[in-house]
Amino acid sequence: WDQDRIRNFCIIAHIDHGKSTLADRLLEYTGALSEREMTNQVLDQMDLERERGITIKMQAVRLNYLAGDGREYQLNLIDTPGHVDFSYEVSRSLAACEGALLVVDAAQGIEAQTLANVYLALDHNLEIIPVINKIDLPGADPERVKREIEDVIGMDTSECVLASAKSGEGVRNILEKIVAKIPPPGGLSQASLKALVFDSHYDPYKGVIAYIRIIEGSVSKGMQIKMMATGKEFEVSDAGIFRPTLLSVGELRTGEVGFIAAGIKNVKDCQVGDTVTDARRPAAVPLPGYRKVTPMVYCGLYPVDNIQYDDLKDALEKLKLNDASLIYEPETSEALGFGFRCGFLGLLHMEIIQERLEREYDLNLITTAPNVVYQITTTDGEVIEIDNPSKLPPAGKVEIIEEPFVKAIIMCPKDFVGAVMELCQERRGTFADMEYMSAGRVILTYNLPLSEIIFDFFDQLKSRTRGYASLDYELSGYKESNLVKLDIMIAGEVLDALSVIIHHDKAYYRGRQLVEKLRGLIPRHLFEIPIQATIGNHIIARETVKAVRKNVLAKCYGGDITRKRKLLEKQKEGKKRMKQVGNVEIPQEAFMAVLSIE
Ligand code: GDP
Ligand code: MG
Repeated sequence: WDQDRIRNFCIIAHIDHGKSTLADRLLEYTGALSEREMTNQVLDQMDLERERGITIKMQAVRLNYLAGDGREYQLNLIDTPGHVDFSYEVSRSLAACEGALLVVDAAQGIEAQTLANVYLALDHNLEIIPVINKIDLPGADPERVKREIEDVIGMDTSECVLASAKSGEGVRNILEKIVAKIPPPGGLSQASLKALVFDSHYDPYKGVIAYIRIIEGSVSKGMQIKMMATGKEFEVSDAGIFRPTLLSVGELRTGEVGFIAAGIKNVKDCQVGDTVTDARRPAAVPLPGYRKVTPMVYCGLYPVDNIQYDDLKDALEKLKLNDASLIYEPETSEALGFGFRCGFLGLLHMEIIQERLEREYDLNLITTAPNVVYQITTTDGEVIEIDNPSKLPPAGKVEIIEEPFVKAIIMCPKDFVGAVMELCQERRGTFADMEYMSAGRVILTYNLPLSEIIFDFFDQLKSRTRGYASLDYELSGYKESNLVKLDIMIAGEVLDALSVIIHHDKAYYRGRQLVEKLRGLIPRHLFEIPIQATIGNHIIARETVKAVRKNVLAKCYGGDITRKRKLLEKQKEGKKRMKQVGNVEIPQEAFMAVLSIE
């Protein structure tokens, strides 16, 4: 392939604006898949993803397109994850492209992730082609959306494509625009190899499959390569392209997108953002932008039944093979026994992993409320990071507690500005900026503690704006806050898994709410159970679960045996998610209760 007949692009969009559907249409139009082969939305492969309608795992595909100028082009479409948790991966896949289709829903207009993605694309100097999608919808208002794109992004929309990924309208036009507008890849074909790893997955037979974009030079089967971040060397056993299934071609040249396998056993040795070079003739400097991803959110994962500990360990190991950003280490909790402390990129990432552990590995888990990483300066002047509130040193030893803050962009109709501001204020946010767009929409910028965002901020935002607000955020750094540790005691014992670090001004209210909530969640036992919230040695709230004599069978008057059995089964079912702590049985909901308190 001539370099000037290659185009590398991605599609950026707010969730649900039609990215996956459009990708499918492009595949279909260029014959990358016959219609019969087309399952709905091939680019979203994981079941979970499909169910939730979100794109988690990036995929790439090569399309051959015979353009209006009579020449055939190689179009490489790189799919990007659509969620803020995966922003680093988004940035790496953008770095593998020269252009982007910006898809905006004709009825919804610009949303927070549209904007966040546009900024990222501009940072990478991508040529942006605006596409207004879903013009078939009765509520479509492409003129309004065009004005928004011009006003908010400052982009010329005279060549904007109007499309319907549903009907296929505008698809050819999009392909022509890709060929005409997006520059072909630069890069010297004779230089030493420099390839950007923008994704990977683990294959049990071939080892790690690295998804790469060749920036300079070429790579072929048999070549000795070096990963520049780790210095580790491997021999390329396979090189090929995505059609969209893997197709070996033996060699990849400058500007191309494809995969290599090199007997790499661990995704750690082949990280997203790393540069692959020729071990015999290495490049002098790696490609810019590589960084190690660090988890932002931690939680404890414990088997309900200790028998499943080894299964949980195996499952985490397997998931880790495919996901270098998942971090875990063994942890013991006085209340919950043996488990793992796991680190995630964000809340969505956490939910995905939890769900996969339960569904794919059939595990029954207790998950503790998530927390962020705190930086503690002790009275000895030592700085430590803690990923578990129960590890906070005693109050007398703590000089300063710092917590991570984010810069959040919230977009909503102007009628909801008051509600959004109120929510941000409640969550210790500080106002940074407000801008009006056309059609009565507003962009608010706030600085907020990350810990406040993980406490059901998104759900609150949605419910207080009737679903009309969208949110995007990025980490801005650590700042000191007046934080304290709130402990919960059940039957006189501190339940370490329920400890939270919280702002001083909110601690009393939260403590009271929490014990009330727990009283409702913990079933009655044969004895009385006191529930207390404490800060240091100070009890700030108390409730009691009264004793009861539990005898479900008494209701059956002895007669109906099947009814009896059903009742017993029901009771057993209810117990499944119970964790025995001391002599108290505590349901899973109790460990997450901290999250759902307003
Ligand atoms: P993504 O989250 O950006 O990948 O969005 P999807 O491609 O999953 O689309 C979200 C929803 O919008 C799906 O229900 C699609 O069927 C629907 N959709 C996508 N494109 C169009 C379109 O052009 N017209 C209409 N009416 N619906 C569309
Ligand atoms: Mg999608």
